[in-house]
Amino acid sequence: MRLNMIDLEKDVKYIKGVGPNRVKLLNKLGIFTLKDLITYYPRTYEDRSKPKNIAECIDGEEVLIEAYASGKVTDVRLRGKTMQKLVIRDETGVATAVWFNQSYLKNKFKQGEKYTFYGKISNIFGKITINSPVFDEEGKTSNTGKIIPIYPLTFSLSQNTIRRIMENAIKEVEGKLEETLPEYILKEYKLEGINEATKSIHFPQEFKDFNIARNRLAFEELLTMQLALLELKNSYINEEKGIQFSKDVHMSDIINKLPFQLTNAQRRVLEEIDNNMESDKPMNRLLQGDVGSGKTVISMCAAYKAVKCGYQAAIMAPTAILATQHLENFKKIFDELDIKCELLISAMTKKKKTELLERLKNGEIDILIGTHALLQENVEFKNLGLVVTDEQHRFGVKQRTTIVEKGQNPDVLVMTATPIPRTLALILYGDLDISIIDELPPNRKKIDTFAVTKGMEDRINNFIKVQLKEGRQAYIVCPLVEENEELDLKSVEKLYEKCKTETFPEYRVEYIHGKMKAKDKDDIMMRFKNKEIDILISTTVIEVGVDVPNANIMVIEDAQRFGLAQLHQLRGRVGRGEYKSYCILKYEGKGETVRKRMKVMCDTNDGFIISEKDLELRGSGDFFGTMQHGLPEFKIANLFEDMNILKVAQEAAIKIIDKDPKLEKEENMRLKRLIKDKFTKRIEI
Ligand code: ADP
Ligand code: MG
Repeated sequence: MRLNMIDLEKDVKYIKGVGPNRVKLLNKLGIFTLKDLITYYPRTYEDRSKPKNIAECIDGEEVLIEAYASGKVTDVRLRGKTMQKLVIRDETGVATAVWFNQSYLKNKFKQGEKYTFYGKISNIFGKITINSPVFDEEGKTSNTGKIIPIYPLTFSLSQNTIRRIMENAIKEVEGKLEETLPEYILKEYKLEGINEATKSIHFPQEFKDFNIARNRLAFEELLTMQLALLELKNSYINEEKGIQFSKDVHMSDIINKLPFQLTNAQRRVLEEIDNNMESDKPMNRLLQGDVGSGKTVISMCAAYKAVKCGYQAAIMAPTAILATQHLENFKKIFDELDIKCELLISAMTKKKKTELLERLKNGEIDILIGTHALLQENVEFKNLGLVVTDEQHRFGVKQRTTIVEKGQNPDVLVMTATPIPRTLALILYGDLDISIIDELPPNRKKIDTFAVTKGMEDRINNFIKVQLKEGRQAYIVCPLVEENEELDLKSVEKLYEKCKTETFPEYRVEYIHGKMKAKDKDDIMMRFKNKEIDILISTTVIEVGVDVPNANIMVIEDAQRFGLAQLHQLRGRVGRGEYKSYCILKYEGKGETVRKRMKVMCDTNDGFIISEKDLELRGSGDFFGTMQHGLPEFKIANLFEDMNILKVAQEAAIKIIDKDPKLEKEENMRLKRLIKDKFTKRIEI
């Protein structure tokens, strides 16, 4: 780091305006360092720079008015509150500015002086009011007269406070940020420098500045991702040959033993896999298929082939309970074929584990199913030929490679229920071949989905009770674990208390969330599966879950807070048995988009249609923004809206890696550092 450069890792507590209380609040937002702070980008902006005449103000809009104070502030008492009123006027008309409980405003305004006000207008029969406006004296611009950033979730920090803090931070770093992109890239792609971009993204003079800044920052993120992907791809494209599984072992032998007919889609996918397995190039295939489309059986057929050809197979699932479920399913088919399946999870006695590992090493175990425990160093295979990771978005690439290295170029199949449109998948998973199961097994009952608002609460609860009386079980999902004052979301524990004591006192209610110990989670899931619990209150941890065929109701609280893809994934937890199943989306908010999104969920059960509609309705939104979906998290880029930037970034990355595959040249040092900063912790693809 050069001398005049600023230390971005410094604790936010050293930033002007950040006291001990605010430190805590900032930490809650994931902001710990100066760097975290200045990359906490605005969610949107308010243009408080273009004044309007009073006569032009429209009901409901937020406007900037330049007007004279016609008199003094008057205090009006109103049911325990006080209201401050100030009559203001400009050349075109008169309006009243109104505040609540702000008695300090009393002496703020001088009659006849000019001020700027920014606030929401109500226009009732021509009587114009500007509600709780922020204001400045003429010529000042602390609250008005400029474009104002609006930050995402701020908990108890007001927008004003976080903006002040940000102003201080930007002042501190201005001109002192070390450039993160190489000069030649900045030149070639005509990108703004990091200092200008950082300033304009928070405090743009004009929207044009914002666009230029955003373009640069998004490019940087996307370029970094593309470079990381290419590096990764290079690291495992080896010239070495993979295993050539024998053409004389037929998957059809096991297919004929299944209790059902495969769908056409399943058959097509198996053929693709079979071809890969029989070729001498290592397979690297991504299998996408909606929840319930029957991916497990695909992994079974592939494992069968590997085993019959004399190799071992490893199946890795994200949770112990899911691994256990897989084992049960595998054993149903493989026991009578004399193929040995075993389970490896961390909750096993040492003795049992040691014994199992011994047999694995000797080749006495054909298929090993398990969790992260499979990755441990002491897990040695005799001849691992096939690796399957289920719900791969829960694993990082690093973990995928770790398990692969336990074999000699084994074939790899990763399975995911996340539906991603193909064009995007090609860019993101450029290193994998892709198979898609786009058809559900026949006779699946549609899950009836209802979107309801608060007023329907009692009816919904009665409906749930009717189902519980019949012996069914219900999930209730809420979005966050901790109470969030700002959005007033229901937390799991709170809802649990309420359900247990008020709403469903006669039923057995339990809760589960991601912050619990794995063992406790598994325990609760087991009890739910064994019908010892009637209602399970949960966060999204149940998204990847075990089958509980008796559960037929999925209630989702604050459904408007979830991405459609995630709602769909959650809904997939019901409809797994013989019972008619229901999904109830409780939502708030009047927005057209919210309603449309709920309607999509009610209209279709098809994950691919849902993901497309999701994009249509709101760009990529949080659908692609979150780790949940296994895609890298971006601070500013948006994979859909920035498709054009993504294409340019991809071309740039290819050019760079072509010339300097390991990014060893001096000119690419900054790129190398960017990748290291962003992706060493956990590469998620
Ligand atoms: P997912 O793709 O979500 O992992 P699973 O593999 O768990 O789906 O399959 C869901 C259920 O459908 C399982 O009970 C499985 O036995 C069953 N199944 C899979 N394929 C078929 C098929 N072709 N016909 C009927 N049932 C099937
Ligand atoms: Mg599955």
